[in-house]
Amino acid sequence: MILAIDIGGTKMAAAHVDEDGAVLSTRRAATPQDADAETLWKTLADLVEPLAPGVTGVGVGCGGPMTWPSGEVSPLNIPGWRDFPLRARLAGRFPGLPVRIHNDAICVAVAEHWRGHGRGVADMLGMVVSTGVGGGLVLGGRLINGGTGNAGHIGHIVVEPDGGPPCGCGGHGCLEAVARGPALTEWALARGWTPGTAAGDGLYREDRAVTGRALAADALAGDPVALAAMRRAGRALGIAIASATHLCDLDLVTIGGGLSQAGEPLFGPLEEALREHARMAFARRLRVLPAALGQEAGLVGAAALVLVGDRY
Ligand SMILES: [Zn+2]
Repeated sequence: MILAIDIGGTKMAAAHVDEDGAVLSTRRAATPQDADAETLWKTLADLVEPLAPGVTGVGVGCGGPMTWPSGEVSPLNIPGWRDFPLRARLAGRFPGLPVRIHNDAICVAVAEHWRGHGRGVADMLGMVVSTGVGGGLVLGGRLINGGTGNAGHIGHIVVEPDGGPPCGCGGHGCLEAVARGPALTEWALARGWTPGTAAGDGLYREDRAVTGRALAADALAGDPVALAAMRRAGRALGIAIASATHLCDLDLVTIGGGLSQAGEPLFGPLEEALREHARMAFARRLRVLPAALGQEAGLVGAAALVLVGDRY
């Protein structure tokens, strides 16, 4: 039984994951906001304590950037941790056990390859489209790390080189700058979108907040600005995926995260842009699918780092 941990800017999750990838006894806690490093660590330590007895290894997914594989983390969305030695602290708490850590988007990609649509697929890119846009690359059935553990960063492929929006990385026109949820909602608000209008009174009432999920719901209900926003994201994704496919000769791309359930308003324009740009015969076989695994994907992938360490 592996102790799997998934750490994000709004919540931390921990669970037991068995050798088949089943997630058991999940525990969650809100990530303390504006907290110092030790307060954050105590929240995590308290979260995992009841799950500690009997585990044989620890797998961790955490927001980047981080040094890898040593696991000093500086998650963009958790300012209290800068160069925090997360892997070493967990190794201290679980002496003698293997402790492995990777970028959270890579854990989602690993999960999708191990237990999702990627089962039996040799060459795939697992993507996450949410607050950010990330990914992990599996080639020849093995996770590709790159020199510093950062291979698969499709969010920073440039899709709008001329006049594209500024990106958190310091560049501009990156896929992430165009297609991340907050960029889409901002784009739509500036063009007159009001959350929930198309969905109608009584429907999606909980979604009147400005979220990517609300935008996706309004697009499905036919709101023209929401549809245009999804089209903008879909086309950017299709262009980036076409580039990745030519570079890596992929069979499959999976899309997880908040926008993965956006349906035809996102995936229609994505397929259209992909077919427009992926013209080489070998690239036409690519399939793009919404991820099979949901919220638990990060935990499943984190466990796989330990359970299937020879591939991931
Ligand atoms: Zn960027």
